[in-house]
Amino acid sequence: MSAIASCLREDLRDFAGYRSARSEAVDGDIWLNANESPWPNPADLDATSRRYPEPQPSTLRARLAVLYGCAPAQLLVGRGSDEAIDLLVRACCVPGRDAVLVTPPVFGIYAVCARLHGARLLEVPLVEAGDDFRIDLAAVADVAIAQGAKLVFLCAPGNPVGAIPDAASVLALARALQGQALVVVDEAYIEFADAPSLLPAVAGQPNLVVLRTLSKAHALAAARIGCAIADPELIAALRRCQAPYPVPVPCTELALRALTASALQRTADAISDAKRERARLQSALATVPGVRKVYPSQGNFLLVRFDDAERVYRDLLAAGIVVRDLRAAPQLGDALRISLGTPEQNDRVIERLLTSAAGTRQRGVG
Ligand SMILES: *Cc1c(COP(=O)(O)O)cnc(C)c1O
Repeated sequence: MSAIASCLREDLRDFAGYRSARSEAVDGDIWLNANESPWPNPADLDATSRRYPEPQPSTLRARLAVLYGCAPAQLLVGRGSDEAIDLLVRACCVPGRDAVLVTPPVFGIYAVCARLHGARLLEVPLVEAGDDFRIDLAAVADVAIAQGAKLVFLCAPGNPVGAIPDAASVLALARALQGQALVVVDEAYIEFADAPSLLPAVAGQPNLVVLRTLSKAHALAAARIGCAIADPELIAALRRCQAPYPVPVPCTELALRALTASALQRTADAISDAKRERARLQSALATVPGVRKVYPSQGNFLLVRFDDAERVYRDLLAAGIVVRDLRAAPQLGDALRISLGTPEQNDRVIERLLTSAAGTRQRGVG
């Protein structure tokens, strides 16, 4: 059995999925096979939305493959990487039996998809070591093997901790789990990292899956365009589990405009700006009284521990500044996550934190 087939649900092995009107490889001038309207809606000014879209828009898929340096057959376009996560769980795990491994504190969608699908959830907590949080990859391998995990989700850079695991160690984990589990590396923030993507390793490691998205660095969260990049056999299996027409035409058109050379240049500039702001905000935060710790970050956010995270959260909110409250997350009972804004917005965050800290000290003295 192939390294992919052994990770897929055996009860879905001969499942062909839905054959939509767009799956037929036929040619014609007059298309009357999908009960579409022959007239455009008056709101559809260039009449691009009258017909169902291609299930995997070929132009967009080709452009994304160029962007990520892979073959189109290695790439699945979905409604955000969120959809790819859901498809992986559904394609690999028999409900009530198979398991998904996650490393909390981490992005919550992996556990949500596992729960909704009835997959067992295995947790290997991040370890705080020195300056940073680390994934305990040795423990991940042990638990995945002992408990028979089918999917291991690694977030690189990690949300919310900002750290990135060592690429060679992730590849060693994938090799150790080959034939048993897929290792899914979620690179939602990799554009902001100093380390390179694991994408070049996908071709040589069949159970390695990389997730990418246009939602963060490309500033297109509302367009819902994300990708899984993996072995073509796995991509074909995920397509069979996917909704018939997952990618809306207006979103495809927007994404194509975002992948022109000039838009990509603008994106690259914005990424450099974000990295500069990250360094500036990190040093500024470290000087604010009441800040316990600012973690180094490879993402477009900073994880910060406070003496009184609740008061800081409420103080920022009172000033109209909304950050992410992480106090319910394991090991993060005193932490907030602050996404990087514009330089002006980041200035306002710092000013407000300084004012609020000064107020606390005065109250404390008086
Ligand atoms: C934001 C985020 C995503 C979501 O990506 P979409 O493509 O918008 O679905 C995926 N993974 C992580 C870790 C994220 O933080």
